[in-house]
Amino acid sequence: MTTHKYVVSKEESSVLNKLPGAICIFQDIDDDVLMIFANKASLKMFNMSYDELVNFYNKDLYNFTHPEDANNLKVKTRKMLRGENLSDFSYRVKLNGSEDYSLIHERWNLVRTDDGCEIGLVAMSDLTREMKSQDTKIRLLSKKYDDAMRNKARTDTNLMTFIQFDLTEDRIIGGDFSKDIKVSFTWKDLLQNECNNIIDENQKLIFKNTLTEEYVRECAYSSNGISLTYKRKAIVDKKSTMWVRLDINFSDNPMNNNNLAYIYLYDINSEVVTDIFLKYAITDIYDYIQRIDLNNDSYTTFISNIYKDKYLSRLDGNDYFKQKDRKDFFGYQYLSKLGSQLNKEYLIDYLSKNDKYSKDFTIIEDESNLKYKRITIKYVDELKDSICLAQQDFTESMIEELEKNMKLENALKEAEKASVIKTKFLANMSHDMRTPMNAIIGLSSFGVEETKEIKSKEYFKQIIDSSEYLLNLLNDLLDMNKLESGSVILNNQVVDMKSLISEIQSIVKTKADNKKQQFTITLNKDFNDKLLKIDKQRVQQILINVLSNAIKYTNKNGYINWDVRFEKADKKDLMINKISDNGVGISQENLPYIFDAFYQERNNLSKSEEGSGLGLAITKNLLELMDGDIKCTSKLGEGSEFTITIPMGKCESEDEKCIIKENVSYEYSILYNKKILLCEDNNINAKIARKMLEQQNIKVDLACNGEEACKMVEAKEYDCIIMDIKMPVMDGITAAKNIRLKDNNTPIIALSANAYEEDINESLSVGMNAHLAKPIDKEKLYKSLIKNIKGN
Ligand code: ADP
Repeated sequence: MTTHKYVVSKEESSVLNKLPGAICIFQDIDDDVLMIFANKASLKMFNMSYDELVNFYNKDLYNFTHPEDANNLKVKTRKMLRGENLSDFSYRVKLNGSEDYSLIHERWNLVRTDDGCEIGLVAMSDLTREMKSQDTKIRLLSKKYDDAMRNKARTDTNLMTFIQFDLTEDRIIGGDFSKDIKVSFTWKDLLQNECNNIIDENQKLIFKNTLTEEYVRECAYSSNGISLTYKRKAIVDKKSTMWVRLDINFSDNPMNNNNLAYIYLYDINSEVVTDIFLKYAITDIYDYIQRIDLNNDSYTTFISNIYKDKYLSRLDGNDYFKQKDRKDFFGYQYLSKLGSQLNKEYLIDYLSKNDKYSKDFTIIEDESNLKYKRITIKYVDELKDSICLAQQDFTESMIEELEKNMKLENALKEAEKASVIKTKFLANMSHDMRTPMNAIIGLSSFGVEETKEIKSKEYFKQIIDSSEYLLNLLNDLLDMNKLESGSVILNNQVVDMKSLISEIQSIVKTKADNKKQQFTITLNKDFNDKLLKIDKQRVQQILINVLSNAIKYTNKNGYINWDVRFEKADKKDLMINKISDNGVGISQENLPYIFDAFYQERNNLSKSEEGSGLGLAITKNLLELMDGDIKCTSKLGEGSEFTITIPMGKCESEDEKCIIKENVSYEYSILYNKKILLCEDNNINAKIARKMLEQQNIKVDLACNGEEACKMVEAKEYDCIIMDIKMPVMDGITAAKNIRLKDNNTPIIALSANAYEEDINESLSVGMNAHLAKPIDKEKLYKSLIKNIKGN
């Protein structure tokens, strides 16, 4: 609107100057609101001259007006002059170079002048004093509000970020936040920054869709809070992640009515993780978990989906320990299983002594399924004011366990079966191998005797040595097998210790002599005439094993000492043997293993020695069977000492003592011209036996099997029958039985590749007089013949 400037007349100005209040006149000239008059009272109020005041209002006003009010002032004055909105309004303005604002209030009145101008007659008042008092009140109020907000932020240890944001001015106005939030951030920047930290795309989307401009404005308007939970990058260590809750509260700044947002970011990681864990635990591990407050007996239940509809009607409640409530919760089944143990006093007492209470039981679920359940009860924490009860189903693992046990049992049965087969196989093998061994050793010994050629004699001797070695190996293997399967039975008999020791001595001394070793025996005095009950063969085997090792693992010209003494013990006497040598010794690291089957230490010192690695294992096993003991001390390169303790039964009755005194003198002459029936199916073995017998001028008839032997015995009288056991058509046992039906006198000597206790016993039980093992030992054969024919 363009008009001419209105000139205030003298009369008008004098009237206005007389008025007590400050009155100014404004006019809109070419879109500029100008002050065209100020009365005296206004000059006084503003403390300015007329020109100063008019200049100030027309040129500088907006520079000194408070930035929040300037725009408002401009718009409003223009509207007033157009008559659009006539009312009051105030604005803050710095007057006369002051740092503080004065609050100026204007009340407008639009006047149309006679010459057609529109002028604003404005009553102005200075409300600074009032404002100040009002302002302090508001400031105090808003400070209180702010402090409360900040305090909230400060006291909550889980609060990580706190931002005060002025939504109206779109800027951060305070708070406590990390460096990645810049003070210059706008609302958009702030949201974008947070959104970038969210990990899950879904959660990102929810974040964006929730915090839209529109929604935030709406919330700010209605002062509703916003709360969001999501997973974000950790604030400090960006590599890890954490669960957070974002809370935004809104309020107005009472000072300027701006919309404020208070933003809080809480660390709820542990809460969420516990929650997730609980959910997970419940779905995957537990049927349900209950938390029971011991102060008021109230309970909360977290329950797995599967069990939700099962038998639990109440998930949360009071009076946990009351029978009725428990029945409601567990159902009758449980009550009968757990009964009084779920009693509060019982549990508290139990948990004061134990870390947890646990009980397993079975229940029938869904009418037919047997389920294995475990209830575990623990205090939740040190406060001990609430307990946690968790029920776990272990049916599956129980079934697995049962299946495993069944498999194990089956495997054991299989293993036992395999072991029986192995024992049988080895026994058969032993028989089948002994038979040709008999031939090899027998024929070679004839070779040694008969050949004149020195070289051939040597060859035969070597064949015999090797065969005997092979035979020993075979015996060891069989022994070990029998010991492992627990089928070795000790055959205790009265034994004269003196003869036992001298027999062993004669065997091992030859070996030591061959190596030019010094072999000594230290005996204490009381061993003379000592009769003790032992398994002679096995005791010999033990001592010969250890003594032979001492010889084997000691170099030429070394020494071996066998110290024997007897100690009296309660029920048995103890034979204590110390066998020491100055041989190669055993390293400390290998010492613990020497009694293991197949163990052999092969160092430079002992590598050339032959052996099966079974000798000491057999020895130890036999000693265990006898309740005896073996120990070893040794130093590599210096020698070893084995201490063997053998308990021996005391021989008390005179009868027992007599047996041993009966002495057999062997008169080979009685064998001359004797008639012997040799029953043997194997040609070579028959040949060997025949030759041995003929060497003593015995007359030999040969039967090829048991049946033939029976017939021949009926037809002719013999001085003795030598009977092989395993034969075609009729075996030796059956043949002996048949013979004994009619003939009780003719001695029968079993000759068999099977030489175990039970084989011997079987032979004796069908009436045979003796049992000799193959390969045939010529001397043993002769002695047995002499003994049996003589007694006949
Ligand atoms: P082997 O048939 O190998 O002799 P043994 O079971 O009798 O088996 O002995 C096991 C191992 O213990 C031997 O291989 C040897 O290394 C060691 N050993 C046994 N006796 C002695 C000893 N007197 N001196 C040194 N080493 C020994």
